[in-house]
Amino acid sequence: MAVNKLKLIKDLSNANGVSGFEEEVAELIKDYASETSDVLIDKMNNVYLNRKQNTGNRPVILIDGHSDEIGFMVQSINGKGLIKFITLGGWAASNVPSHLVRIRNYQGVYIKGVTTSKPPHFLKPAERNQTPSIDNMFIDIGATSREEVVETFGIDVGCPIVPDSEFSYNEVTKVMLGKAFDNRIGCACVVAILDELKKKKIEVDVVGTISTQEEVGLRGSKVTSNKVNPDIAIVFEGTPADDGFRGIYDSQSALKKGPQVRHRDGSMITNPKLLALARSIAVEKGINFQDAVRAGGGTNGGAIHLAHNGVPTIVIGVPSRYIHTHYGYCSFEDYEATIKWGVAIIEKLNSQVIENL
Ligand SMILES: [Zn+2]
Repeated sequence: MAVNKLKLIKDLSNANGVSGFEEEVAELIKDYASETSDVLIDKMNNVYLNRKQNTGNRPVILIDGHSDEIGFMVQSINGKGLIKFITLGGWAASNVPSHLVRIRNYQGVYIKGVTTSKPPHFLKPAERNQTPSIDNMFIDIGATSREEVVETFGIDVGCPIVPDSEFSYNEVTKVMLGKAFDNRIGCACVVAILDELKKKKIEVDVVGTISTQEEVGLRGSKVTSNKVNPDIAIVFEGTPADDGFRGIYDSQSALKKGPQVRHRDGSMITNPKLLALARSIAVEKGINFQDAVRAGGGTNGGAIHLAHNGVPTIVIGVPSRYIHTHYGYCSFEDYEATIKWGVAIIEKLNSQVIENL
């Protein structure tokens, strides 16, 4: 049976998995992909999806999506029962206060809390214009003492903290709202591509990797890419949308304008031949795409293209509004187009094409 793409991304978006704590995502991927792939999970919780039809004597195409989302970790608990935390991954301090989070306690139970803020009634004039600092924030679970947090709720130093948001889908706009589209949408693309490939005859082996700890320095993919040793890699991402604040000629990641392909970012300059091939396939298949030259940022492509003797790698992103906050929007059509493009690229690859890159 074909995988339900909407349910797949809903389940992945709702799953808990901040950097270093991705086991729930790994198990979900295993459930969804075991029909198409032999699944292996390593000690870092990286997931390897070896397509069942792989022969072992053809070029290897790696398709990657990182499983971790940004979040927080408990650093200490004060006498009032307020929880001091550090960030896992890149947060803007202004996006942190007054949001719901869930803290995984030492029994594995999730406890709801709120990131603290000062009511306007108590804000001094100077404070109103100040940029908040994470150093001055806490998480409040409604406790009134340190003992209550530690003993009653089982929360202590080192517990992971996840943004608390629920996925929803708007049938009218065909837009999805939820957390962690960076990068559960990429994970969903990897699973869905392997599913689509069930019906296809291809000339390459395909290995999916759902790599951990991207948001804290591309750590999982340093392991996965060296283990898989691919000939070509395609990285799928939830890429930051820019259509809300850029003009039509400057925007390179607008919702509903198709997947984004990166020519460069802070971590990689894309192999021009592979990029040209991917772009020509999109044109041939009538897939709208957006070219992006990113001034900064980085993806697992940064680690993967440097594995072994160097791997021609491209990064294809589904535009996601407001990533690295509690909520984001992604277009279902962009997600489907990304899957279609990924499948079409894989169908085009063979030893000879790869030789000429
Ligand atoms: Zn990402």
